[in-house]
Amino acid sequence: MRNDLDDRLTERDAQLTRFASRYPAEANAVVNALSKVRYYKGEPDEFTCACGSVADEWQLVILADVEGPAFLPYSEDPDDYQAFCTPCALDVCADRLTRLNAWRFEGGN
Ligand SMILES: [Zn+2]
Repeated sequence: MRNDLDDRLTERDAQLTRFASRYPAEANAVVNALSKVRYYKGEPDEFTCACGSVADEWQLVILADVEGPAFLPYSEDPDDYQAFCTPCALDVCADRLTRLNAWRFEGGN
């Protein structure tokens, strides 16, 4: 279980690194937005994930249609972020990629 989680985390981080090297400006905006969230709301481990575990990271949770086709979506509003534990955060990221791929399949570029 532990190894499985590590593998998923490694894969997710590699994916984000690939996106960040292709879209540096967006990646930078994501980093800045997360700094703003920590400034206004605090560190994620001060919060409890919806599943009951101690949170590990902030994730964007705005509506899918607002989020749109962005590879590296971010929001200027800290309230658009929720604290998640690592397994739940990975699910949020996987869900975003699924929606993104669906959007591209439906005729996005
Ligand atoms: Zn959780």
